[in-house]
Amino acid sequence: MKNQQAPSKSLRVSNFTALKKAAYQAAVAGKQCGYNDEWKKQYIDCYSISSVVFLFERAVTVYQDFLQGDIQKEEGESLFQQLEEKFTRICMVLGSAHEFAEAAIEAFGEKGMQFGEVEFDCPDCFSKAKAIRLNTPKNPSHAVTIRASCYGCGTRMMN
Ligand SMILES: [Zn+2]
Repeated sequence: MKNQQAPSKSLRVSNFTALKKAAYQAAVAGKQCGYNDEWKKQYIDCYSISSVVFLFERAVTVYQDFLQGDIQKEEGESLFQQLEEKFTRICMVLGSAHEFAEAAIEAFGEKGMQFGEVEFDCPDCFSKAKAIRLNTPKNPSHAVTIRASCYGCGTRMMN
């Protein structure tokens, strides 16, 4: 193909639900054509490479495996939970409160906690800050809710 240009379209999704929805539509469209090259070009390779597109491609694969009966619903859900955590992390890193978000997420890692409430030192002002991570599967926009705020400088974040 002579006129083909490097992909420049960027994938715009405001939250993980939107990403999942787009991935599902792509996987369903792919099933009808046997996930051929043309489909991949139209639905995945059309986007310029980014961390979000990488997650999008993974999400399409999860749906693809599910639609083909290779994985069960529970396995798909757990894979999506991992993808959502990565997505949240990417979104926060891309945002302004980069270091604050990293510190909040690391605090959970250090305590070996998946959910609950932890304290950490604010990287901006070195005061105490608090982070809360909740399992919220019924929330329409995210299955994991993360909030953090600093008692000192008032920096806040949420997903
Ligand atoms: Zn602070």
